Amino acid sequence: MYKNYILDKDYFIQVVKDLAVMAEVERDYLTKLDSLIGDSDHGINLSIGFREVTKKLPEWENENITAFFKKVGMTLLGKVGGAAGPLYGGFFMKLGEPANNKEEVDFGEFCNMIKNGVEAVESRGKAIIADKTMVDTFRPALDALMAAVEAGQQPLDAFDKCVKAGEIGRDSTIPLIAKKGRALRLGERAIGHMDPGSASSYMILNIFYENMKKRF
Ligand code: ADP
Ligand code: MG
Repeated sequence: MYKNYILDKDYFIQVVKDLAVMAEVERDYLTKLDSLIGDSDHGINLSIGFREVTKKLPEWENENITAFFKKVGMTLLGKVGGAAGPLYGGFFMKLGEPANNKEEVDFGEFCNMIKNGVEAVESRGKAIIADKTMVDTFRPALDALMAAVEAGQQPLDAFDKCVKAGEIGRDSTIPLIAKKGRALRLGERAIGHMDPGSASSYMILNIFYENMKKRF
């Protein structure tokens, strides 16, 4: 059904380059969010990780999509400390698996990639919706994407729903008490602040979307 909507290696390389730009541009904002309910390092962590990814990127240009994301994920895992390193490391390592060592995927296969990545975050971190984590962005975004695919919607419509559901999920973290991560210790003092990981995961999904708009 989505056979005419192809995302190739160049698309994914551009996404990763844009993620690295995002990590610099949003570094202070994400760190400020983390200063309110965490330990003031979320933006710094992502910046450290994606600087290393950027450094190694030229070595990976001939890898297939599966191997490429495995290397992106392993680099983040190796370089980024804290909770976000293993979680985003796992996300990217698993993201490429459904691409089955190919150089390009269609939109249906791409949705399975997102599913695999989000499920990796959930199985690693064991967070569920309303725990005030990045899962509050990722899970509703994935559910909206899969529902739109099930309904046979066009890729850009389906991914628009995905990103919008992620945005609502991100904002839903503001009034919550945290059940996972460092913010747990704050109890009610976490109320009124957006979870930093829910903010960065929204940005990540949006970068996939913005690049898709240039292709489809
Ligand atoms: P740390 O909390 O170790 O300083 P970061 O500041 O880089 O690491 O990342 C914090 C973010 O990680 C939180 O905002 C939250 O979204 C996410 N997070 C923390 N624990 C979990 C978990 N168990 N499952 C999913 N996400 C989590
Ligand atoms: Mg932190």
